[in-house]
Amino acid sequence: MNNHINIIGVLTSGGDAPGMNAAIRAVTRAAISQGIRVKAIYRGYKGLIDGEIKEFSSQDVSGIIQRGGTIIKSARCTEFQTPEGRRKAYQTILKEQIDALIVIGGDGTFTGGRLFAQEYDIPVIGLPGTIDNDLWGTDATIGYDTSLSTITECIDKLRDTATSHERVFLVEVMGRYAGFLTLNAAIAGGCEAAIIPERASVKEQIEDAIGNGRRKSKNSSIVLVQEHAVEGGAATVAQMIEKVHPEYSTRVTVLGHLQRGGSPTAYDRILASRLGVAAIQALLDGQRNVMIGIQNDDIVLVPLSKAIHQKKDIKEDSWEALQTLSI
Ligand code: ATP
Repeated sequence: MNNHINIIGVLTSGGDAPGMNAAIRAVTRAAISQGIRVKAIYRGYKGLIDGEIKEFSSQDVSGIIQRGGTIIKSARCTEFQTPEGRRKAYQTILKEQIDALIVIGGDGTFTGGRLFAQEYDIPVIGLPGTIDNDLWGTDATIGYDTSLSTITECIDKLRDTATSHERVFLVEVMGRYAGFLTLNAAIAGGCEAAIIPERASVKEQIEDAIGNGRRKSKNSSIVLVQEHAVEGGAATVAQMIEKVHPEYSTRVTVLGHLQRGGSPTAYDRILASRLGVAAIQALLDGQRNVMIGIQNDDIVLVPLSKAIHQKKDIKEDSWEALQTLSI
């Protein structure tokens, strides 16, 4: 029936992101409503290789829309990066009679999915699930909005301490190789600066950062540092500041995995729900090897190759806004 899709497999892979559960729920219920059976694959591609699979009913995804993490677990699986690993994964596909795969994750997950679809005759649909928001072709990824709110909340708390002491607080923020979380959390948290990989000279960014806060007679500065803006992250930036400006005392806070957790925001739940339903529709329409994304609040289908390989740039006006507002 329906482009010969009788059974789909769904997995979450790579770093977990809040809203993945909402996406699993949406995919499951949208599929079942079309008469398609759903097999949940545990632990990402590892579970596909090992055959760790459970068929889901509508009830299996009850009460999960508000939960962070992923109920079907995630994993990083190097074996799937080998032809032998993918061959084993395909054996599972055949054994379980899975007709199409929905993969929820970031660019690594999509890279693996795309390769798998090229080597074997299996349609793959990607749902962007990563806090990093670094996939081209979608305005937002599932988990990004929640993570942004979490980081902003942490900054608000730090601000209380920062204003009580004359210090430079350096806060290390995740994001892989993209500065979206760092830049936008800096705007939302009213920070003095953001140090991001998209801007060339970390030294110059530091001078701007320190200059901004001190020059304008602020008694404290909060500067966000993207984890990969410089090797060693915020700790390296702290050393660089204290070397050039020994008069400033620095404190480093690494937010770490706190940034991934928590109940998804309404935005992420709605996004995950819409993208999940659209993924099933795309399969019924005969689509394959595409990411379901959102642009200007409309659902879009983007070839996986583009989502992975094209570079998504930070918004220049956001960068300018941060500079203008941090005086
Ligand atoms: P996040 O952005 O949150 O880190 P991600 O999906 O990019 O998520 P990765 O760890 O990069 O996370 O990738 C997830 C999984 O995808 C890997 O563990 C691996 O199983 C598979 N994968 C990644 N790259 C490849 C590749 N080149 N070939 C085959 N599989 C891959």
